[in-house]
Amino acid sequence: MITEEQLSDEIIVKYFEKYSRKITALRPHKSPTKIEKNRSKFGGEPNLNGFDNYPCCKHCKTPLNHVVQIYKSEFPDFYFPKDKVLFQIYRCPNADCPESFNEHHDFTTFYFYFSESELAKNKEYDKPVINLDNFEEELIECYLKPESVIDLPSWGDYEEIDEDKIKVKFGEEWFDDEFILEYSAHSGSKINGYPVWIQGANEVKCSCGKNKELFFQLSSEDVEDGVEYPPAPDNWSGHGLMIGDLGYMYFFVCKACGETSIEIQWECS
Ligand SMILES: [Zn+2]
Ligand SMILES: [Zn+2]
Repeated sequence: MITEEQLSDEIIVKYFEKYSRKITALRPHKSPTKIEKNRSKFGGEPNLNGFDNYPCCKHCKTPLNHVVQIYKSEFPDFYFPKDKVLFQIYRCPNADCPESFNEHHDFTTFYFYFSESELAKNKEYDKPVINLDNFEEELIECYLKPESVIDLPSWGDYEEIDEDKIKVKFGEEWFDDEFILEYSAHSGSKINGYPVWIQGANEVKCSCGKNKELFFQLSSEDVEDGVEYPPAPDNWSGHGLMIGDLGYMYFFVCKACGETSIEIQWECS
């Protein structure tokens, strides 16, 4: 990720400006206190008003772990279908869930959108106890320290002619930390921008022929302020979510086709 100040650099303007996208890095940080259910956050107690029971996996019935909730009122640049005001992600913690580890997710992942009227009634559910030997822990509750940053593509999402220019600018070192950290896709959880591809760039096509856009990247790597980079293995994030081996989940949508076009992919090293 780069600052707008850096973007004024002549070379950066020349090579990178046409790719630059303003995005929101969520920057989750461990919360010393319990966070209200009506705030965007990672982990902790979510707003359950949209459910008739505590949400469970539809494949193996295991009670779900809350991952993240995003309110439109706080993040209007996030993709929300018409009338929806809250987005939530949950994971089935059961490592042996029949749907786990397919092309869409490692642990079985669910997302939900809710409208104002669906959230109107206050509902409280106790999370049922999970009786499994092999399961994913709950996330550590984190508040968000969002920051507006300029995002640039991962290697492979640049046009070939520009990749050549980048190689000229960075020489043999083009793939070093300077390029990755300063001029590539932001590696944390973020709203919009470019996916951090690990296995090479993918085109995510909609059935209408358009390319789908990334609207959310969920990352295992959300380094907190004050942590040196690269962080120690137990310090990749405050929330502790591990997607495969330090991987990502990408949420894509074709805005012309709407909510039904949403597609999740994931990658790890
Ligand atoms: Zn399951
Ligand atoms: Zn479409």
